[in-house]
Amino acid sequence: MTSSAVDCFKANLLNLEVALARILDAITPVRARQQLPLKSALGRILAQDIQAPLILPPFPNSAVDGYAVNLAGVTAPSPLLPVVGQSLAGLPYSDPLLPSQAIRIFTGAKVPDGTTAVVMQEEVTRQGTLIRLNRLPSEGEHVRPAGSDVRCGEVVLKTGRLLRAEDLGLLAALGISQVTAFQAPRVAYFSTGDELRSLGESLAPGQIYDSNRYSLSGLLAEFPVIAYDLGAVPDDLEQLTELLREAGQSFDLILSSGGASVGEKDFLRQALSRVGEVTLWRIALKPGKPLIFGRTGRAWYFGLPGNPVSVHVAFAQIVRPAIWKLAGASGFKPLRLKARCLNALYKTVGRLEFQRGQLALDEAGLPVVTGLAAQESHQLATLSRANCFIILPADSQGASAGTYVTVEPFAAGFYGS
Ligand code: AMP
Ligand code: MG
Repeated sequence: MTSSAVDCFKANLLNLEVALARILDAITPVRARQQLPLKSALGRILAQDIQAPLILPPFPNSAVDGYAVNLAGVTAPSPLLPVVGQSLAGLPYSDPLLPSQAIRIFTGAKVPDGTTAVVMQEEVTRQGTLIRLNRLPSEGEHVRPAGSDVRCGEVVLKTGRLLRAEDLGLLAALGISQVTAFQAPRVAYFSTGDELRSLGESLAPGQIYDSNRYSLSGLLAEFPVIAYDLGAVPDDLEQLTELLREAGQSFDLILSSGGASVGEKDFLRQALSRVGEVTLWRIALKPGKPLIFGRTGRAWYFGLPGNPVSVHVAFAQIVRPAIWKLAGASGFKPLRLKARCLNALYKTVGRLEFQRGQLALDEAGLPVVTGLAAQESHQLATLSRANCFIILPADSQGASAGTYVTVEPFAAGFYGS
């Protein structure tokens, strides 16, 4: 064991991967399903495999505006063909095309039987009712064959799929107007701490605004869950116990922040053990160490740290994969990539560390990252300026400028501002 591993072992800290595996193992997805109209299914998790009820495209059609031609038996390099009709999108030419015939055709219009190719209008010379082809097209050129996108009976989307805009288009193209999705889990969250005041209240000395509930409401917005704000609760063992007992009857998941560490007023572990079960506590993660996972009633419970940045790190690394599993999603993995670090980063050996960084692209379009100053776990402004976490392994002492580090973007598409 390395010295850092020994330290974590002594302190009874769980390695992140081990803790996450135990948590994901424990959580069972919601089973209830519901039928949803297609548009309402955006962002929900599919609870059925979807088999294509038809082929796409349903008929061969033209990829361009031009002329459908039948060149069977034609050998002339630049043939002259009569234009015998037209096929418009939605208004097909119903007869078969005979050898040496052409029809006018537009993008998406049905290609008649007998067509050997479609020629772009730019590649013909129109001469009254005739066209001369500037060159001989290859067999099937500019024809989109029936079934070239989706085959009938093909499974296009599987159970566990998070439905995206791209999927809605595909389902609509297949004529599917309703899908079965998993019911959205009910997720409650609250803050704990005698020092907390809600927005709109005035602050007495020693008091601060409760920001974690706003962080959590924002973080929960990405999921297909119904989120309930249970407010801020004082550091009172009886009240916390009662709240955990009651909430355990009504929700699928409960999140709290604060009171999860070893302070005199940190009651969450004790409260949870009175009404439910503490499965694990404390992870070798910086920030985000004091994390409780367990169960109360029919709900899973995460007691997150109180420090505002720790809430985000613990949420991103542990709660996010847990909620995706609870919601029925399969295949979730955070996007991580290598970026060249533009400044030196420092850390003490011991815990896996998530530092806040600014990811950008250099002149060659390659990812580069700058570690930001002010990395303590209360420094929310740095988090707000960041667009990624820089992930530094437990045993590392940081990174020198110019070396590659692993980053996890959390504001994809917004680089360098
Ligand atoms: P705790 O884990 O309860 O000891 O809290 C650690 C730190 O986080 C303390 O500085 C708390 O004041 C702060 N904190 C706890 N909960 C919140 C919250 N909801 N909003 C803002 N800061 C908080
Ligand atoms: Mg506290």
